[in-house]
Amino acid sequence: MSRRYDLIIDGKSVPADDYAEIRSPSTGEVVGLAAQASRAQLDDAVGAAQQAFAGWRCASDETRSEACAAVAGAITEHQAELAELLSREQGKPLKGLGAEFELQGCIGWAGFTAQQSLPVKVIEDSEERRVEEHRVPIGVVGSITPWNWPLMIAVWHILPAIRTGNAVVIKPSPFTPLGTLRLVEIMNEVLPPGLVNAIAGGDELGAELSRHPDIRKLVFTGSIPTGSKVMASAASDLKRVTLELGGNDPAIVLPDADPAAIAEGLYWGAMINSGQTCGAIKRLYVHDALYDAVAESLLAIDAKVPMGDGLDTNNLLGPLQNERQYRKVIELVEDAKARGARILCGGEPTDGPGYFYPVTFVADIEDGAPLVDDEQFGPVLPIIRYTEVDDAVRRANGTSYGLDASVWGRDPEQLADVAARLEAGTVFINKHADIAPHIPFGGVKCSGLGVEFGEEGLAAYTDIKIINAAV
Ligand code: NAD
Repeated sequence: MSRRYDLIIDGKSVPADDYAEIRSPSTGEVVGLAAQASRAQLDDAVGAAQQAFAGWRCASDETRSEACAAVAGAITEHQAELAELLSREQGKPLKGLGAEFELQGCIGWAGFTAQQSLPVKVIEDSEERRVEEHRVPIGVVGSITPWNWPLMIAVWHILPAIRTGNAVVIKPSPFTPLGTLRLVEIMNEVLPPGLVNAIAGGDELGAELSRHPDIRKLVFTGSIPTGSKVMASAASDLKRVTLELGGNDPAIVLPDADPAAIAEGLYWGAMINSGQTCGAIKRLYVHDALYDAVAESLLAIDAKVPMGDGLDTNNLLGPLQNERQYRKVIELVEDAKARGARILCGGEPTDGPGYFYPVTFVADIEDGAPLVDDEQFGPVLPIIRYTEVDDAVRRANGTSYGLDASVWGRDPEQLADVAARLEAGTVFINKHADIAPHIPFGGVKCSGLGVEFGEEGLAAYTDIKIINAAV
């Protein structure tokens, strides 16, 4: 009998009328049963959060900081259990940049958030007036998360919200609800009841949450089309929004780069989580002079990277997380083949069970092909040839995406010049996908609105309140 994972409302496990079977993307076996929240249970969760908020908004800064540190401690205690559940449900391997790495991220981000603060700023202290800028909590935060890094993104949403005095209702992706339900249950061992609530369900539950009149801020991580719907829902009562959306990150390899030296960074910059990462390299622009050498260095690394069931500790890459994504990746590669692109490795889905698609490098492909223009979100990388650096920059920028970008080479001046011209929230030089809790992260253009992490990310969970006193 599969284990049931209940909703977490007001500090308690709450059963539902319906449960959804959540299956392993590697084996097809049932990992667990996820409670499906009703509309009334959504209201219960928001109501519990509102009640908890009434007390928590008055809690001292020290109390809130200690609570975040206690969450980091509770996750640490349960990290082996959570990593295994994450690997079984999401598919990512335990090892490498997989489930254990994601749990380390959860602990690191929670611990860092505990130490952050937003002290009162004195804007003016004169004979005329004393003006202070305070950061005050917003209210109940609705968090909606995707299936690729479900636990880390849950921590990214929840911890800054409670650190700054808000309460939370989180709704994980219907593909990966189990880890989040368990994570929030664990958080509730150390938090006041109702401060963090978890409800699981389908996309419609996300839409209802984003429309809920008692939610005051929405933090959403997911695709651009859904992000735009969430923003529309927020408009009617001016909810605050933070949107972290899709990316189609370009990497430009300059003519003076050393192919062997950059290959490892390029490979994992693209293949992290089997490419199912918003900020992974998704288009690789390589100068004609290095084109074959870069491709060969990537193939040499790939030959040493095993893919398979995540619980086998030899594996470093896992499957696509769900059938929809698996079909999309197959379709994009088939389209590239039909256009005459050259498949350097992979290129055919593996026999089941599981949604395994091999690492695939695709050469002789141009902008305009869907594999280049769309977010493939899989272990498939188009390698695009260029001859003029200006042209590569123009093509890299020729998209509505703007999450990250990277430039690889040796001449510091040229690296800095290209970095300055790339349109992205983050531009990396000689690396990719290097994020940290003290560095603001977010997308420009259609890749998002606002940032997470750093002081700016924390401040996004607050309103500014000015106290302007006569003296
Ligand atoms: P998705 O947009 O399909 O779903 C994300 C979440 O939104 C899920 O919980 C889903 O149930 C919910 N949802 C669906 N319809 C909704 C609606 N109408 N209103 C409110 N919520 C709704 O995205 P996905 O397929 O789960 O995730 C993959 C996408 O997420 C990719 O585009 C990826 O780049 C992006 N992503 C971005 C970041 C970032 O930080 N920028 C991080 C991770 C993933």
